[in-house]
Amino acid sequence: MITASCHCGAVRMEIDAEAPETVLSCGCSICRRKGGLWTYYEPRQVKIIPESGATSIYLWGDKMLEHHTCKTCGCTTHWSPVDKTYPRMGVNARMMEPEILAAATVRHSPGPTE
Ligand SMILES: [Zn+2]
Repeated sequence: MITASCHCGAVRMEIDAEAPETVLSCGCSICRRKGGLWTYYEPRQVKIIPESGATSIYLWGDKMLEHHTCKTCGCTTHWSPVDKTYPRMGVNARMMEPEILAAATVRHSPGPTE
């Protein structure tokens, strides 16, 4: 299991997975500004603590993804699908321990052009 946390600790995540081998630096208009490094999981693998209330949610574009940011310290912690049947979500690997991030290979994706 991997654990992750925002800077202030108000948002924590317990991830039922091994340390990621690769993380994705997405170049889309939101991710390049947030500077997130994404790892992808099925939502059932990720326990968000607390489940709700500690993050603010940003929706943009086709409004399919909720971008979650800690209300207290401002870290972007994860994104989750608006459609809860969608089997994929993203965790910002920058919330993981530095050794985990240092061991992962960063891949770059240009992302959508908008
Ligand atoms: Zn925080």
